[in-house]
Amino acid sequence: GPALEVRDLTVRYGRPVRFGGTAKTSPAVDGVSFDIAPGETLGLVGESGSGKSTIGKAILGLQPASAGQVLLHGSDITRASLRQRRVTAIDLRVVFQDPYSSLNPAQTIGKTLTEPLRVLRVPKDQHRPRAAEALAAVGLPADAIDRYPAQFSGGQRQRIAIARALVCDPQVIVLDEPVSSLDVSTQAQVLNLLADLRDARGLALLFIAHDLGVVRFLAQRAVVLYRGQVMESGPIEEVTQRP
Ligand code: ADP
Ligand code: ADP
Repeated sequence: GPALEVRDLTVRYGRPVRFGGTAKTSPAVDGVSFDIAPGETLGLVGESGSGKSTIGKAILGLQPASAGQVLLHGSDITRASLRQRRVTAIDLRVVFQDPYSSLNPAQTIGKTLTEPLRVLRVPKDQHRPRAAEALAAVGLPADAIDRYPAQFSGGQRQRIAIARALVCDPQVIVLDEPVSSLDVSTQAQVLNLLADLRDARGLALLFIAHDLGVVRFLAQRAVVLYRGQVMESGPIEEVTQRP
């Protein structure tokens, strides 16, 4: 079955706003469904404010769902407790647009990479070897482990953020605009890296981006959002993103 499944997901922010006495809420995400198989990439595209990041946050449990379900390998994680999230976070990781969302400038790369392992209570003797392995997997030298984020370029920092996601050996990764802050040639390198990692490990990737341009490179299928709803979805060659 699918690695990740989103069923009729609806997310509303805040309290209902009342106009003329009737409750009127416009959900940020409104009845969205899709699934992603192991080894597959699904592009989730749409203009700014269309609900992409909200879907990512709901999948990660950072924003509660108002209705619908998120299933990880068939298990409903929609309303998972923090304790349960600690377990699902081994399997389900995230990479944000800004690598500094995951990298602490005051911490060595080694410390940053092993942090999820500490949180997830992985035995300590595995930490450094797994950090070294994750760095190698993203094409960074072994001595990076004792350096600080500021000593790396933007593209290298995003590789480190990807390594931080990989260190847990996840099966699903949410990529929220992972190359949007990079220049075009660095984007291509990071996209190539993501494609190689996906193919080697059978990762299911949810690739969130503004437009189909970068998504085409990785995704087999795409979902186009408009104002929280699915406008179009299907094989990447057939999706046009016409509003
Ligand atoms: P996208 O990622 O496609 O740019 P978002 O998911 O960030 O879209 O936003 C979808 C809608 O939800 C927008 O109307 C946005 O203003 C609103 N929104 C996003 N975050 C919040 C928040 N924390 N509180 C209230 N509304 C929000
Ligand atoms: P983590 O602390 O789990 O290693 P990161 O620091 O890389 O996560 O990601 C930044 C934010 O995303 C944090 O608020 C973190 O709690 C959250 N996050 C990352 N992965 C997950 C996940 N699988 N489930 C829930 N929240 C996550």
